[in-house]
Amino acid sequence: MQVPLLDLRGQYHALKEEIVREIEEVCESQRFILGPKVEKFEAAMNSYCHSVATVGVTSGSDALIIALMAEKIGAGDEVIVPSFTFFATAGAVARVGATPVFADIDPVSFNIDPADVERRITKKTRAIIPVHLFGQCADMDRIMELANAHNLIVIEDACQSVGSEYRNGRRAGSIGNYGAFSFFPSKNLGCFGDGGAVSTDSREREGVLKMLRNHGQGSTYVHNMVGGNFRLDALQAAILSIKLPHLDHWTEMRRRNAAEYRSLFAASRIGDLVKLPVEAPFTGRHIYNQFCIRIAGGKRDEVKARLGELGIGCAVYYPLPLHLQECFKSLGGKTGDLPVCETVARDILALPIYPESTTEMRETVVSALDKILVG
Ligand SMILES: *Cc1c(COP(=O)(O)O)cnc(C)c1O
Repeated sequence: MQVPLLDLRGQYHALKEEIVREIEEVCESQRFILGPKVEKFEAAMNSYCHSVATVGVTSGSDALIIALMAEKIGAGDEVIVPSFTFFATAGAVARVGATPVFADIDPVSFNIDPADVERRITKKTRAIIPVHLFGQCADMDRIMELANAHNLIVIEDACQSVGSEYRNGRRAGSIGNYGAFSFFPSKNLGCFGDGGAVSTDSREREGVLKMLRNHGQGSTYVHNMVGGNFRLDALQAAILSIKLPHLDHWTEMRRRNAAEYRSLFAASRIGDLVKLPVEAPFTGRHIYNQFCIRIAGGKRDEVKARLGELGIGCAVYYPLPLHLQECFKSLGGKTGDLPVCETVARDILALPIYPESTTEMRETVVSALDKILVG
Protein backbone atom coordinates (compact mmCIF):
# COMPACT_ATOMS: atom_id res chain seq x y z
CA MET A 1 0.00 0.00 0.00
CA GLN A 2 1.20 3.50 -0.89
CA VAL A 3 1.45 5.86 2.09
CA PRO A 4 1.94 9.53 1.23
CA LEU A 5 3.76 11.72 3.75
CA LEU A 6 1.01 14.30 3.28
CA ASP A 7 -2.16 14.41 1.20
CA LEU A 8 -4.26 17.56 1.40
CA ARG A 9 -6.98 16.48 -1.05
CA GLY A 10 -9.26 14.93 1.60
CA GLN A 11 -9.37 18.17 3.57
CA TYR A 12 -10.07 20.17 0.40
CA HIS A 13 -12.86 17.92 -0.81
CA ALA A 14 -14.63 18.04 2.55
CA LEU A 15 -14.77 21.85 2.39
CA LYS A 16 -14.87 22.37 -1.37
CA GLU A 17 -18.36 23.85 -1.74
CA GLU A 18 -17.85 26.36 1.03
CA ILE A 19 -14.44 27.36 -0.28
CA VAL A 20 -15.60 27.81 -3.87
CA ARG A 21 -18.51 29.96 -2.65
CA GLU A 22 -16.15 32.19 -0.66
CA ILE A 23 -13.75 32.53 -3.59
CA GLU A 24 -16.64 33.61 -5.78
CA GLU A 25 -17.70 36.16 -3.19
CA VAL A 26 -14.21 37.66 -3.06
CA CYS A 27 -14.08 37.80 -6.87
CA GLU A 28 -17.45 39.54 -7.01
CA SER A 29 -16.40 42.04 -4.35
CA GLN A 30 -13.12 42.76 -6.21
CA ARG A 31 -11.48 43.47 -2.83
CA PHE A 32 -8.38 41.35 -3.12
CA ILE A 33 -5.91 42.86 -0.66
CA LEU A 34 -6.59 43.34 3.10
CA GLY A 35 -10.20 44.53 3.69
CA PRO A 36 -13.06 42.84 5.58
CA LYS A 37 -12.10 39.19 4.81
CA VAL A 38 -8.64 39.77 6.24
CA GLU A 39 -10.01 41.62 9.29
CA LYS A 40 -12.48 38.83 9.98
CA PHE A 41 -9.76 36.19 9.84
CA GLU A 42 -7.38 38.26 12.00
CA ALA A 43 -10.02 38.52 14.72
CA ALA A 44 -10.76 34.77 14.63
CA MET A 45 -7.07 33.84 14.61
CA ASN A 46 -6.37 36.28 17.46
CA SER A 47 -9.03 34.74 19.65
CA TYR A 48 -7.97 31.19 18.74
CA CYS A 49 -4.37 31.95 19.74
CA HIS A 50 -5.33 33.89 22.91
CA SER A 51 -3.30 36.87 21.68
CA VAL A 52 -3.79 40.60 22.23
CA ALA A 53 -3.60 41.42 18.51
CA THR A 54 -2.95 39.54 15.26
CA VAL A 55 -1.95 40.98 11.91
CA GLY A 56 -2.21 39.02 8.64
CA VAL A 57 0.94 39.04 6.52
CA THR A 58 2.35 37.44 3.37
CA SER A 59 4.08 34.42 4.94
CA GLY A 60 5.60 32.99 8.08
CA SER A 61 9.02 34.17 6.95
CA ASP A 62 7.69 37.72 6.59
CA ALA A 63 5.98 37.47 9.98
CA LEU A 64 9.45 36.96 11.51
CA ILE A 65 10.98 39.76 9.45
CA ILE A 66 8.25 42.30 10.27
CA ALA A 67 8.50 41.54 14.02
CA LEU A 68 12.26 42.18 13.88
CA MET A 69 11.64 45.38 11.88
CA ALA A 70 9.07 46.57 14.42
CA GLU A 71 11.76 46.36 17.11
CA LYS A 72 14.29 48.13 14.84
CA ILE A 73 16.61 45.14 15.11
CA GLY A 74 19.33 45.38 12.49
CA ALA A 75 23.05 45.83 11.84
CA GLY A 76 25.19 45.27 14.93
CA ASP A 77 22.45 43.39 16.79
CA GLU A 78 22.52 39.71 17.68
CA VAL A 79 19.49 37.43 17.78
CA ILE A 80 19.68 33.96 19.33
CA VAL A 81 17.99 31.20 17.33
CA PRO A 82 18.13 27.40 17.41
CA SER A 83 20.36 25.88 14.74
CA PHE A 84 17.93 23.01 14.22
CA THR A 85 14.92 24.62 12.52
CA PHE A 86 13.59 25.60 9.12
CA PHE A 87 15.92 28.10 7.43
CA ALA A 88 13.54 31.08 7.68
CA THR A 89 14.08 31.46 11.45
CA ALA A 90 17.69 32.53 10.92
CA GLY A 91 17.15 33.87 7.40
CA ALA A 92 14.83 36.55 8.79
CA VAL A 93 17.52 37.73 11.21
CA ALA A 94 20.08 37.99 8.41
CA ARG A 95 17.58 39.72 6.12
CA VAL A 96 17.20 42.65 8.54
CA GLY A 97 20.98 42.93 8.75
CA ALA A 98 21.35 41.46 12.24
CA THR A 99 23.50 38.46 13.18
CA PRO A 100 21.94 35.09 13.97
CA VAL A 101 23.64 33.43 16.94
CA PHE A 102 22.99 29.71 16.92
CA ALA A 103 22.10 27.77 20.06
CA ASP A 104 21.93 24.02 20.60
CA ILE A 105 18.72 22.09 21.23
CA ASP A 106 17.33 19.72 23.81
CA PRO A 107 17.70 16.13 22.51
CA VAL A 108 14.27 15.08 23.76
CA SER A 109 12.00 17.93 22.62
CA PHE A 110 14.22 19.09 19.67
CA ASN A 111 13.58 22.65 20.87
CA ILE A 112 16.10 25.36 21.80
CA ASP A 113 18.05 24.62 25.00
CA PRO A 114 17.58 27.56 27.41
CA ALA A 115 20.88 26.80 29.17
CA ASP A 116 22.71 27.18 25.87
CA VAL A 117 20.77 30.37 25.09
CA GLU A 118 21.99 31.83 28.38
CA ARG A 119 25.63 31.07 27.50
CA ARG A 120 25.25 32.95 24.20
CA ILE A 121 23.79 36.22 25.54
CA THR A 122 26.14 39.18 25.00
CA LYS A 123 25.83 42.97 25.19
CA LYS A 124 24.73 42.92 21.55
CA THR A 125 21.87 40.44 22.03
CA ARG A 126 18.50 42.05 21.29
CA ALA A 127 16.13 39.13 20.89
CA ILE A 128 15.58 35.39 21.18
CA ILE A 129 13.54 33.44 18.62
CA PRO A 130 12.48 30.14 20.21
CA VAL A 131 10.93 27.80 17.62
CA HIS A 132 8.04 25.55 18.63
CA LEU A 133 9.30 22.76 16.43
CA PHE A 134 7.11 20.00 14.99
CA GLY A 135 4.09 21.23 16.98
CA GLN A 136 5.47 21.35 20.53
CA CYS A 137 6.24 24.51 22.51
CA ALA A 138 9.78 25.34 23.57
CA ASP A 139 10.45 25.81 27.31
CA MET A 140 8.97 29.31 27.39
CA ASP A 141 9.16 29.91 31.18
CA ARG A 142 12.92 29.67 31.08
CA ILE A 143 13.19 31.68 27.86
CA MET A 144 10.99 34.46 29.30
CA GLU A 145 13.06 34.52 32.52
CA LEU A 146 16.22 35.06 30.48
CA ALA A 147 14.50 37.68 28.34
CA ASN A 148 13.26 39.58 31.39
CA ALA A 149 16.64 39.40 33.12
CA HIS A 150 18.49 40.72 30.05
CA ASN A 151 15.79 42.97 28.60
CA LEU A 152 15.39 40.99 25.37
CA ILE A 153 12.52 40.76 22.90
CA VAL A 154 11.02 37.29 22.40
CA ILE A 155 9.63 36.36 18.99
CA GLU A 156 8.05 32.91 19.05
CA ASP A 157 8.40 31.07 15.77
CA ALA A 158 5.04 29.29 15.94
CA CYS A 159 4.96 28.49 12.21
CA GLN A 160 4.59 24.76 12.98
CA SER A 161 2.52 25.23 16.11
CA VAL A 162 -0.79 26.99 15.60
CA GLY A 163 -2.92 25.98 18.61
CA SER A 164 -0.08 24.23 20.39
CA GLU A 165 -0.25 24.68 24.17
CA TYR A 166 2.40 25.25 26.79
CA ARG A 167 1.76 24.90 30.56
CA ASN A 168 -1.58 26.15 31.90
CA GLY A 169 -3.24 26.21 28.49
CA ARG A 170 -1.13 29.08 27.23
CA ARG A 171 -1.07 29.02 23.44
CA ALA A 172 1.91 29.27 21.11
CA GLY A 173 2.47 32.85 20.00
CA SER A 174 0.79 34.43 23.04
CA ILE A 175 3.69 34.11 25.51
CA GLY A 176 6.48 36.26 24.03
CA ASN A 177 6.25 39.76 22.54
CA TYR A 178 5.46 38.41 19.08
CA GLY A 179 4.37 35.13 17.51
CA ALA A 180 5.00 34.22 13.87
CA PHE A 181 2.57 31.90 12.07
CA SER A 182 2.74 30.36 8.61
CA PHE A 183 -0.18 29.23 6.49
CA PHE A 184 2.01 27.48 3.92
CA PRO A 185 -0.18 24.65 2.57
CA SER A 186 1.60 21.87 4.51
CA LYS A 187 1.26 23.55 7.92
CA ASN A 188 -1.57 22.42 10.22
CA LEU A 189 -3.62 25.44 9.09
CA GLY A 190 -2.73 25.94 5.45
CA CYS A 191 -4.04 28.26 2.76
CA PHE A 192 -3.91 27.94 -1.04
CA GLY A 193 -0.62 29.71 -1.53
CA ASP A 194 1.57 31.69 0.82
CA GLY A 195 0.18 33.40 3.89
CA GLY A 196 1.13 34.18 7.47
CA ALA A 197 0.27 36.15 10.58
CA VAL A 198 2.11 37.88 13.36
CA SER A 199 0.58 38.12 16.81
CA THR A 200 1.69 40.55 19.45
CA ASP A 201 1.25 41.43 23.10
CA SER A 202 0.28 45.10 22.76
CA ARG A 203 -1.96 47.42 20.77
CA GLU A 204 0.99 49.74 20.26
CA ARG A 205 3.00 47.01 18.56
CA GLU A 206 -0.06 46.07 16.50
CA GLY A 207 -0.17 49.63 15.14
CA VAL A 208 3.49 49.48 14.13
CA LEU A 209 3.05 46.07 12.48
CA LYS A 210 0.04 47.28 10.48
CA MET A 211 1.98 50.28 9.26
CA LEU A 212 5.06 48.23 8.39
CA ARG A 213 3.11 45.67 6.36
CA ASN A 214 1.88 48.47 4.12
CA HIS A 215 5.12 50.34 3.34
CA GLY A 216 5.09 52.19 6.66
CA GLN A 217 2.10 54.17 5.51
CA GLY A 218 0.26 56.05 8.30
CA SER A 219 -2.39 57.71 6.15
CA THR A 220 -2.70 57.53 2.36
CA TYR A 221 0.71 58.22 0.75
CA VAL A 222 2.14 59.54 4.02
CA HIS A 223 4.95 57.25 5.18
CA ASN A 224 6.05 57.34 8.80
CA MET A 225 8.65 54.60 8.34
CA VAL A 226 10.07 52.35 5.66
CA GLY A 227 8.10 49.11 5.68
CA GLY A 228 7.37 46.76 2.85
CA ASN A 229 4.58 44.90 1.10
CA PHE A 230 3.66 42.26 3.68
CA ARG A 231 -0.11 42.30 3.07
CA LEU A 232 -2.24 39.18 3.33
CA ASP A 233 -4.72 38.82 0.49
CA ALA A 234 -8.46 38.41 0.86
CA LEU A 235 -8.69 35.04 -0.95
CA GLN A 236 -6.23 33.41 1.44
CA ALA A 237 -7.92 35.00 4.47
CA ALA A 238 -11.35 33.81 3.29
CA ILE A 239 -10.08 30.23 2.89
CA LEU A 240 -8.39 30.36 6.30
CA SER A 241 -11.61 31.58 7.94
CA ILE A 242 -13.37 28.49 6.61
CA LYS A 243 -10.62 26.16 7.79
CA LEU A 244 -9.93 27.59 11.27
CA PRO A 245 -13.11 26.21 12.93
CA HIS A 246 -11.97 22.70 11.89
CA LEU A 247 -8.45 23.03 13.23
CA ASP A 248 -9.11 21.56 16.69
CA HIS A 249 -10.71 18.50 15.12
CA TRP A 250 -7.73 18.04 12.77
CA THR A 251 -5.40 18.43 15.73
CA GLU A 252 -7.33 15.74 17.62
CA MET A 253 -6.91 13.41 14.63
CA ARG A 254 -3.17 14.09 14.50
CA ARG A 255 -2.95 13.35 18.24
CA ARG A 256 -4.96 10.15 17.81
CA ASN A 257 -2.62 9.12 14.98
CA ALA A 258 0.42 9.75 17.20
CA ALA A 259 -1.10 7.63 19.98
CA GLU A 260 -1.78 4.87 17.48
CA TYR A 261 1.84 4.94 16.29
CA ARG A 262 2.94 4.60 19.93
CA SER A 263 0.87 1.43 20.44
CA LEU A 264 1.97 -0.03 17.11
CA PHE A 265 5.66 0.59 17.92
CA ALA A 266 5.18 -0.88 21.40
CA ALA A 267 3.69 -4.05 19.88
CA SER A 268 6.50 -4.38 17.29
CA ARG A 269 9.97 -5.89 17.70
CA ILE A 270 11.62 -2.50 17.10
CA GLY A 271 12.20 -1.58 20.76
CA ASP A 272 15.18 0.74 21.33
CA LEU A 273 16.12 0.85 17.64
CA VAL A 274 13.71 3.77 17.29
CA LYS A 275 13.08 6.65 19.70
CA LEU A 276 9.57 8.07 19.51
CA PRO A 277 8.81 11.77 20.01
CA VAL A 278 8.43 12.74 23.67
CA GLU A 279 5.97 15.27 25.08
CA ALA A 280 7.83 17.49 27.55
CA PRO A 281 6.45 17.91 31.11
CA PHE A 282 5.55 21.53 30.31
CA THR A 283 3.66 20.61 27.15
CA GLY A 284 -0.09 21.21 27.37
CA ARG A 285 -0.95 20.14 23.81
CA HIS A 286 1.43 18.87 21.14
CA ILE A 287 -0.19 19.39 17.74
CA TYR A 288 2.06 17.00 15.76
CA ASN A 289 2.82 19.07 12.69
CA GLN A 290 5.38 16.29 12.32
CA PHE A 291 5.81 12.92 14.00
CA CYS A 292 9.60 12.60 14.08
CA ILE A 293 11.35 9.44 15.19
CA ARG A 294 15.07 8.93 15.74
CA ILE A 295 16.75 5.89 14.24
CA ALA A 296 19.74 4.45 16.07
CA GLY A 297 22.96 3.09 14.60
CA GLY A 298 23.56 5.50 11.72
CA LYS A 299 20.88 3.74 9.66
CA ARG A 300 18.57 6.67 8.99
CA ASP A 301 19.46 7.23 5.34
CA GLU A 302 19.23 3.51 4.56
CA VAL A 303 15.83 3.27 6.30
CA LYS A 304 14.58 6.32 4.42
CA ALA A 305 15.65 4.85 1.07
CA ARG A 306 14.02 1.47 1.84
CA LEU A 307 10.74 3.14 2.89
CA GLY A 308 10.85 5.15 -0.32
CA GLU A 309 11.20 1.96 -2.39
CA LEU A 310 8.11 0.58 -0.63
CA GLY A 311 6.07 3.68 -1.53
CA ILE A 312 6.05 5.01 2.04
CA GLY A 313 6.51 8.76 2.30
CA CYS A 314 8.95 10.08 4.89
CA ALA A 315 11.25 13.09 5.10
CA VAL A 316 14.22 14.50 6.96
CA TYR A 317 13.52 17.75 8.80
CA TYR A 318 16.34 18.95 8.87
CA PRO A 319 19.44 17.30 7.43
CA LEU A 320 21.93 20.18 7.87
CA PRO A 321 21.85 22.44 10.96
CA LEU A 322 21.91 26.14 10.15
CA HIS A 323 25.31 26.89 11.73
CA LEU A 324 26.83 24.61 9.06
CA GLN A 325 25.05 26.15 6.06
CA GLU A 326 27.17 27.66 3.29
CA CYS A 327 25.39 31.03 3.51
CA PHE A 328 26.35 31.42 7.19
CA LYS A 329 29.97 30.37 6.69
CA SER A 330 31.22 33.85 7.54
CA LEU A 331 29.77 33.44 11.05
CA GLY A 332 32.41 30.77 11.69
CA GLY A 333 30.22 27.77 12.60
CA LYS A 334 32.08 24.45 12.56
CA THR A 335 31.16 20.79 12.87
CA GLY A 336 31.17 19.91 16.56
CA ASP A 337 29.99 23.35 17.74
CA LEU A 338 26.41 22.24 18.47
CA PRO A 339 26.62 18.49 19.07
CA VAL A 340 22.95 17.83 19.82
CA CYS A 341 21.74 19.58 16.63
CA GLU A 342 24.30 17.66 14.60
CA THR A 343 23.40 14.25 16.07
CA VAL A 344 19.65 14.78 15.72
CA ALA A 345 20.10 15.95 12.09
CA ARG A 346 21.76 12.59 11.36
CA ASP A 347 19.14 10.30 12.88
CA ILE A 348 15.75 12.03 12.63
CA LEU A 349 12.95 10.92 10.27
CA ALA A 350 9.38 12.23 9.90
CA LEU A 351 6.58 9.71 9.32
CA PRO A 352 3.10 10.39 7.83
CA ILE A 353 0.80 11.87 10.52
CA TYR A 354 -1.73 14.03 8.59
CA PRO A 355 -5.28 13.97 9.98
CA GLU A 356 -6.91 11.84 7.25
CA SER A 357 -4.18 9.16 7.22
CA THR A 358 -5.57 5.76 8.19
CA THR A 359 -4.82 3.03 10.73
CA GLU A 360 -3.95 0.72 7.85
CA MET A 361 -1.36 3.24 6.66
CA ARG A 362 0.25 3.38 10.10
CA GLU A 363 0.28 -0.44 10.31
CA THR A 364 2.03 -0.48 6.92
CA VAL A 365 4.63 2.04 8.10
CA VAL A 366 5.43 0.28 11.38
CA SER A 367 5.56 -3.21 9.90
CA ALA A 368 7.88 -1.94 7.13
CA LEU A 369 10.17 -0.42 9.79
CA ASP A 370 10.03 -3.67 11.76
CA LYS A 371 11.15 -5.62 8.69
CA ILE A 372 13.87 -3.12 7.72
CA LEU A 373 15.33 -2.76 11.23
CA VAL A 374 14.86 -6.25 12.69
CA GLY A 375 14.71 -8.41 9.56
C1 LIG B 1 7.27 27.10 7.59
C2 LIG B 1 8.17 27.74 8.56
C3 LIG B 1 8.58 29.08 8.46
C4 LIG B 1 8.28 29.95 7.25
O1 LIG B 1 6.99 30.00 6.86
P1 LIG B 1 6.63 30.41 5.34
O2 LIG B 1 5.18 30.72 5.43
O3 LIG B 1 6.92 29.23 4.49
O4 LIG B 1 7.43 31.59 4.98
C5 LIG B 1 9.35 29.62 9.46
N1 LIG B 1 9.75 28.88 10.50
C6 LIG B 1 9.39 27.59 10.65
C7 LIG B 1 9.86 26.84 11.85
C8 LIG B 1 8.61 26.97 9.67
O5 LIG B 1 8.30 25.69 9.80
